[in-house]
Parts: sequence; structure tokens; C-alpha cells
Amino acid sequence: LSFEELGLDPRLIRALAKKNIEKPTLIQQAAIPYILQGKDVVARAHTGSGKTLVYLLPIFHKLLAENVLNKSGPSVLILAPSRELCQQVYSEALSLLEHCRVQLKVVKLTKEMSISDLAASLAGHPEVVVSTPACILGCVTRGNLQVKAIQDSLSMLVLDEADFLFDYQQGNDLQALAPHVPRRCQCLLMSATSSDDVEQWKKLMLHNPVTITL
Ligand code: AMP
Repeated sequence: LSFEELGLDPRLIRALAKKNIEKPTLIQQAAIPYILQGKDVVARAHTGSGKTLVYLLPIFHKLLAENVLNKSGPSVLILAPSRELCQQVYSEALSLLEHCRVQLKVVKLTKEMSISDLAASLAGHPEVVVSTPACILGCVTRGNLQVKAIQDSLSMLVLDEADFLFDYQQGNDLQALAPHVPRRCQCLLMSATSSDDVEQWKKLMLHNPVTITL
């Protein structure tokens, strides 16, 4: 399957071409159709398999189609286990959008930022937030991000590198966030391996998920 055959927005396909990305990887071919259909998806994918675009492309496709601005909170929350990983996801998202030239706001929130910078980033009404469980929980606890805004607006949640997201402290933070995620929210879980933790979180957060293993 090509990116065109996957049915992605032509603006995204042009942006990919500018980055010399011409053909979807196997995991992208397998997972993107389900994500576009709105299914919850578990994808077993390693770094280097193109797993970030597995979720970024359908996320942007949907946001471009929706054209809803001025929601009370973010539409998409991408959680990753470390600052470095957040940075990678954020860079990939920005470079895609830069080539697309559309007004979608993506922010990265990590613990190294000051509380006023975190609050200011959220006050700019980003459609997409990339963060760690701890940092986003801090924003919710302080009221920089209102629970009601999450419940009203969130339509997609991504748990990236889930193998590491569920360990000890991050697992507790995620547990505290889980009740705020609305039932209708589409959840995507990316993990390199299968573990008891991953299975447990899959049951807790995902509804009738499609599992893709390559
Ligand atoms: P990831 O697995 O998400 O860490 O991606 C690894 C690298 O592969 C990133 O630099 C991506 O930009 C790149 N990449 C993702 N999808 C493709 C593709 N379909 N063709 C070529 N490169 C890709």
C-alpha cells in the first residue's frame, strides 16, 4: 500500500515527500487503516520501524479534516516515558507540520520547563500535547490543564514506548490520569514487547483493540 492508498490527506503526503519519505513501512501499512477507522490499536513496534508516524499521520489527518479550533482543551495527548522521547516525537511532528503549512499547534511539556512556561504553553490552546505522565499530571494537579477541558476535548491518547510507561512511578502517574480520559477517546498503545504490564494497561485503557505484531 502507498500513502495515497492509505487515504491520507494530500498535504501530509506532500510533506512526507519533502522529507524523502515515499513509501509506508510495514507497520504503517498495517496499523494506519485501523487508526483512521477510529479503532483502538496496540502496535508492537521498535524504534526505527517508523512507529512515530504510525500515529502522527492519522492524528494530523483527523485534525486537518476536523478543522475544529478553539476547543477548551487539547484534542490529542501523546505520552512518552522520557524527555528525550518527547523531544523526538515533537521534532517529527513539527517537521511534518512545517512542510504542510497548516495552523495546528503542537506543544511539548516536560518537567524541566518552569511552571509558568508550562501554563503559558497550555494557555495557547494547542491541539496536540506531547508530554510525560508525571509532567501532565502536575499540570492537571495545579490546574494549568483543567480536568473538564480534557474530558470535553480529548479524542486521541497515545501511549508510546509503553514498555517503559508502565513501570513503577510512571505507572502510578498514569493510573492517576486514567480516570480523566473520556470513554469515547481513541487509545493507541505502542510497545516493543509484550509484558504483563502492557496487557493490564491494554485492558484498562483500550476498548476492543486491534493488535498488530510484525
Ligand atoms: P521511528 O521508528 O518512529 O523512531 O522512526 C525512525 C525514523 O524513520 C524517523 O527518522 C522517521 O522519520 C523515519 N521514517 C518513518 N517512516 C518512514 C518511511 N515510511 N520511510 C522512510 N523513513 C521513515
